[in-house]
Amino acid sequence: MIFSQVSQAPADPILGLTDTFKADNRAHKVNLGVGIYKDEAGQTPVLKSVKKAEAKLLEIEKTKNYLGIEGVQAYNQVVQTLLFGENSELVKQHRAVTAQAPGGTGALRVAADFLATNTTSKTIWVSNPTWANHQNIFETAGLTVKQYQYYVAATHDMDFDAMLADLDQASAGDIVLLHGCCHNPTGIDLNIEQWKLVGQLCLEKSLLPLFDFAYQGFGAGIEEDAQGLRAVAKVVPELLIANSFSKNFGLYNERIGAVTLVAEDKATAERSFSQIKKTIRSNYSNPPAHGGLIVSTILADDMLKAEWEAELAEMRERIAQMRTLFVDSLKAEGVSQDFSFISRQNGMFSFSGLNKEQVNRLRDEFAIYIVGSGRISVAGLTKDNMPAVCKAIAQV
Ligand code: PLP
Repeated sequence: MIFSQVSQAPADPILGLTDTFKADNRAHKVNLGVGIYKDEAGQTPVLKSVKKAEAKLLEIEKTKNYLGIEGVQAYNQVVQTLLFGENSELVKQHRAVTAQAPGGTGALRVAADFLATNTTSKTIWVSNPTWANHQNIFETAGLTVKQYQYYVAATHDMDFDAMLADLDQASAGDIVLLHGCCHNPTGIDLNIEQWKLVGQLCLEKSLLPLFDFAYQGFGAGIEEDAQGLRAVAKVVPELLIANSFSKNFGLYNERIGAVTLVAEDKATAERSFSQIKKTIRSNYSNPPAHGGLIVSTILADDMLKAEWEAELAEMRERIAQMRTLFVDSLKAEGVSQDFSFISRQNGMFSFSGLNKEQVNRLRDEFAIYIVGSGRISVAGLTKDNMPAVCKAIAQV
């Protein structure tokens, strides 16, 4: 038999955890693994702005005809505005091309396939640590993954000098994966001066930045979170961006994101886009329409846009409150270790410093699910589950 030789693949470190969580019968279980926003009631509701856009689409939609390979034109334009801002020079110069993609993961995979077949270097540098799926995606596409130092466990902070020193070892043409904001899993981002230095290093060494931008609006705000990307785009002639609207529009299962390429001039951008489209055609032909239509409908309507911005701010602020409450509650439970670094981190995640043994005890003894690296999805914490979570952490 042919299939009898197929070996068992290891469970995904994050989604595999969700499967185990679902199978757990304990009523008090808490999932702090997967990066999904939960409100104070522990729910992940559809945003009101999304529901209204969907009602509008139901009225006006006339066909389910195929989209073009690159997706909805109006969507691709609003993506560029979110990434680069209104009145962006590089957009005006037609140096940016965007294709709608199935989620941030789909965008990363299209970018990786494009790079693997169209550029000279096949090496991509990712932060240590990074989102667990990065290595998977890039290696499957045929790229070689190397790591640059990012996080230092002892200080619960990043080591920027070490990051630059590692990237200084990269060869011309190598790709550098950068988290646009809300670094996953550490929650520690570069400041604007550091972003400029990274851009400068990429320029001097001819490295190609690939931004993974999955949390725009979850850090300080929609515009604020794009400052790093825009600073680098000002310095380097070429870059790629894979962005996702899973989190900031709550469109997880609509699989909506985009891949954007910036080239030194319009002609190069268009030629490169033909290769991106070729990659898409051989992968999934053209993207599903619904998610892109929701996003473009919201962003084209001032009222819906304002409502979405308010809903996004509410998510961002709730997570920030949970960070403060988490730090205070751990202290109140008598945990002597200083966890104040958690309130300085950005976005959905916190690198708690809990080790594998502690993570396993939290799961087995207390039904609290955390990724093996100690990464906590702060968005899964609520005022209701906080006391139990902090008591359990105090015990382990
Ligand atoms: N990049 C990072 C850093 C992420 O954390 C995620 C999702 O968790 C993604 C990309 C993928 O997002 P999507 O669900 O849109 O594929």
